[in-house]
Amino acid sequence: MIEFKDVSKVYGNGTRGLDHIQLTIGDGEFVSIIGLSGAGKSTLLRSINRLNDVTEGEVVVDGTSITRADKRELRRIRRRIGMISQSFNLVKRSTVQKNVLSGRLGYYSTFKSIFGLFTEEDYKNTEKALATVGLLDKLHSRSDELSGGQQQRVSIARALVQRADIILADEPVASLDPVTTQTVLKDLERINKEEGKTVVVNIHSVELARQFSTRIIALRAGRLVFDGTPDELTEER
Ligand code: ADP
Ligand code: ADP
Repeated sequence: MIEFKDVSKVYGNGTRGLDHIQLTIGDGEFVSIIGLSGAGKSTLLRSINRLNDVTEGEVVVDGTSITRADKRELRRIRRRIGMISQSFNLVKRSTVQKNVLSGRLGYYSTFKSIFGLFTEEDYKNTEKALATVGLLDKLHSRSDELSGGQQQRVSIARALVQRADIILADEPVASLDPVTTQTVLKDLERINKEEGKTVVVNIHSVELARQFSTRIIALRAGRLVFDGTPDELTEER
């Protein structure tokens, strides 16, 4: 469970990124955060794994305060939170297999230091995750030989191998064509439904949010202006 307890974020220049956000996201939800550019979507998402600090209030994940966590606690919580972003964050010259395997160690290990540390099970899980996103045949391909959509799916597989319970996706389809967009969102949907992962995705398309999520949250100027099901959003319009 993810809780925002009256959370505000004021940036150094005085911009209010988040304005008194009160919010609870339960396990297994597929939540889309919508809103215009600058509405605070990214700030909200990045507050969940403390890629940015909040100025007021508290963010709590499964009962542990992210806001007050010390380094060690933060590392422990972050292991359970996978992040997918617009830039795919893969090590380009490495193989798909190595990129996905690196999910086992979290994002703070240097890539080079990790070889030889994986178990048989890690290799199996890597193949299983790649099968889930339909890319098992790319196991030994170099990551930079893949299309944007394929790279995005590799980063989803990496989050699976990380065994994260929560997947945060910051505009994961922003740079993708419509067909690939559907593939990537369907992968996230499958992970949500079949593996029970909580998915929180920032997306600027209301239509896509409606199509894939169980719950939509809309932000405007850092404020929460809508929170409900896709159907309820339709009624409001
Ligand atoms: P979105 O993801 O919805 O486009 P953001 O969360 O990126 O919105 O930004 C919310 C607001 O905070 C915007 O007004 C943006 O300009 C501002 N903002 C974001 N990051 C910073 C930063 N590092 N410094 C100052 N202002 C920022
Ligand atoms: P540092 O300042 O120590 O380099 P940052 O917080 O700036 O660490 O993170 C560096 C990069 O690592 C970020 O751009 C982010 O994409 C990625 N990252 C950090 N933590 C996570 C996480 N829990 N899940 C996914 N990516 C992460």
